[in-house]
Amino acid sequence: EARALLRLKNAATVTRDGAEIRLFANAEMPADVTNARAWGADGIGLYRTEFLFLQRKELPSEDEQFTAYRDLVLGMGGLPSTLRTLDLGADKADSSGLTLDYEPNPALGLRGVRLSLRYPQLFATQLRAMLRASAYGPIRILVPMVSAFEEIVAVRTLLDRCAAELRSEGVAIADHFEFGAMIEVPAAAIMLPLMINQLDFVAIGTNDLVQYTVAADRGNDALGTLYDPLHPAVLRLIRLTIVTGKRARKPVSLCGEMAGDTRYTALLLALGLTDFSMHPGTLLEVRQSIAECDLTSLRKKSVLLLRARTRAEIDTALAAMQE
Ligand code: PEP
Ligand code: MG
Repeated sequence: EARALLRLKNAATVTRDGAEIRLFANAEMPADVTNARAWGADGIGLYRTEFLFLQRKELPSEDEQFTAYRDLVLGMGGLPSTLRTLDLGADKADSSGLTLDYEPNPALGLRGVRLSLRYPQLFATQLRAMLRASAYGPIRILVPMVSAFEEIVAVRTLLDRCAAELRSEGVAIADHFEFGAMIEVPAAAIMLPLMINQLDFVAIGTNDLVQYTVAADRGNDALGTLYDPLHPAVLRLIRLTIVTGKRARKPVSLCGEMAGDTRYTALLLALGLTDFSMHPGTLLEVRQSIAECDLTSLRKKSVLLLRARTRAEIDTALAAMQE
């Protein structure tokens, strides 16, 4: 079976009825890029830049960040690289002294884009490094933990200012780069129809979207089955995000753990997802799983998923989709 999977290494990702799907890789460190290429990813769908900031006391300089981002972009050989701005705080531990020492509710605290906007100088350093990397291949800049329209406007303003400064300094940057937001807070999914014209793409982060939708800590085992990617409310928010993106003709990817778990592949296809982003080690299994799916019949049954009120009804809908 492992050998059958290996045959899919350089294969296109298509459903049984011929629909093309794109599979991107999540990356957290340089080695992931090698694996993404080896397993035939269509690009990097999520590059978690936190690793540059963890386990050290002083912050990485613009040049150090630029080198890391440029190497990623070059390593992808012309395929798009999605660079996520810093997402420190909450479950993402920090030793650089940026995050607050004590917050009563860190998951609801100063994390992600909130932290970056609190330190505009630090944020500008990262954005400049990313923009400089754009001279070496296609990049997409992705903002985590967006919960308000103002945050998108603030980041966009800073980004445009950084680009203008680099150009006036005579530093090479691409004419075009894409700007996107993560949808991982219910407020962002709900507001997306009114925000999408500010964005070039969106990425659904289900790891956090589940936690914030059902108010259940993503790392707390005591909550048992409450933290459930198949909670009907989560599926409705995923669907809303996909539909909003489709209407505006903007790409929507999903980069939470769900995307790399073959138990969810058919369900995500039924909801209309076309771009998956996952740990590189799961790319082949998901490609295989997609090849076994008939998209036309899955899409017809998606209404069952959206009518479900309980996890049990979701399971029934999923069973009906397998038939
Ligand atoms: C997510 O929340 O689903 C996500 C991809 O981001 P992270 O796991 O890094 O919080
Ligand atoms: Mg997240």
